[in-house]
Amino acid sequence: MEVFGSSGTRGVVNESLGPEFLLRVAKAAGTVWNADRVAIARDTRKTGRMLADAAASGLASVGTDVDRLGIVPTPGLQAYAEREGVPALMITASHNPPEFNGMKLIGPDGVELSVADLERVEEHLLAERFETVSWDRTGRARSVDGAQREYIDQLHAAVDGDLIADADLTVALDPGHGAGALTSPEFFRELGCRVVTVNSQPDGHFPGRDPEPVPENLDDLGRLVASTDADIGIAHDGDADRAIFYDERGEYVEGDATFAALAAAELSQDDTTVSAVNVSQRLVDVVQSVGATLELTPIGSTNIISRIRDLRAEGATVPIAGEGNGGVFFPDYRLARDGAYIGARFLELVAERPLSELVSPYDDYYNVRLNIEYDTDDECRAMLTAAEARAQGSEAALDATDGYRLDYGDAWVLARPSGTEPLVRIYAEAREQARAEELAEGMRAALDAARTDA
Ligand code: MG
Repeated sequence: MEVFGSSGTRGVVNESLGPEFLLRVAKAAGTVWNADRVAIARDTRKTGRMLADAAASGLASVGTDVDRLGIVPTPGLQAYAEREGVPALMITASHNPPEFNGMKLIGPDGVELSVADLERVEEHLLAERFETVSWDRTGRARSVDGAQREYIDQLHAAVDGDLIADADLTVALDPGHGAGALTSPEFFRELGCRVVTVNSQPDGHFPGRDPEPVPENLDDLGRLVASTDADIGIAHDGDADRAIFYDERGEYVEGDATFAALAAAELSQDDTTVSAVNVSQRLVDVVQSVGATLELTPIGSTNIISRIRDLRAEGATVPIAGEGNGGVFFPDYRLARDGAYIGARFLELVAERPLSELVSPYDDYYNVRLNIEYDTDDECRAMLTAAEARAQGSEAALDATDGYRLDYGDAWVLARPSGTEPLVRIYAEAREQARAEELAEGMRAALDAARTDA
């Protein structure tokens, strides 16, 4: 795909992405869908309304009526799409900085479009093959109120509210000025929690922190947890499809550790889970200990969604899947990431045991990341050939889904070309730091030698 990445399109507004472009994307999507009606929502970004207006115009020009939902988290729009059976466009740049915006495309089943479906839209976009209609058949837009409330209601229906309410929990919440600011505080309060917040006013300038929920941006949340004696801290990204956690001591918890703790609670023998090729050893260990199966995909949530669909079609049970960045899927709930739902499912566990205890089995893992730059494609190819050769010369199991991952049982190393920069990235993880470093450095030496020879 030239235009779309695995989750739609993003860019700096009025530099690499303007309203004209999203208008044309909407015309292409409207043409491919050929639906009577399409829903549009946005996150809190300053440019959200401008871009949503452009997308709505594009849809109307190909004869599609538009439901304008206003500011709603991406999973809230997905819930609406599924409930109404209409496709949807989400104006968001997810975790990217405030100057960015973009669009995610959602099918009438509430699931992000597959790569194949995105490719069809892209073909129409690049060829400018739009089914523009005559003036008297152009679509009409209407404002739809209440999508936030309906989203919260369906969240309640999907979690164990009594278990959470009985635990009298205090939740420190950081929606990061994003779309979750309009739904998550209310949802967790209605679950019977005491809710304290930071960065909870919707604000497209993101004055308190950038939308990405990484520890550098979350010091205030850690302090809030500690100063209010909260049981848990929860942070969302800009469109609230992810959740990152702090424990009751105000300490940041790695996304890989929360995913492992949720998976340990969710997986049974003979279940299958899906993650990407940079999956943590933490999840590998959980899967091994319960006797489940782990399937790996190329990096990117669209790939994970496709694999879950295929596995379920084959009769596999996939109760949980996802990545260590706070984007966890519970496919029986919806084939979508949902920050509030992930938060509530974690609260069900915190109702029984302190968070730090839940994740302590997954504390002692060490990650090493290295990058090797290259100048020519030949150098890149030589390095990847060397990575493959290294796998064949070792006792490690090789996974070549996306780069080369060498699994040693207790540890792993992955060499993978960056999708955006002239870099080969090396990732390694083990329970001992020395082991992770040895694996990463060994791979680096082999790749360096191959690059020099190229
Ligand atoms: Mg997001």
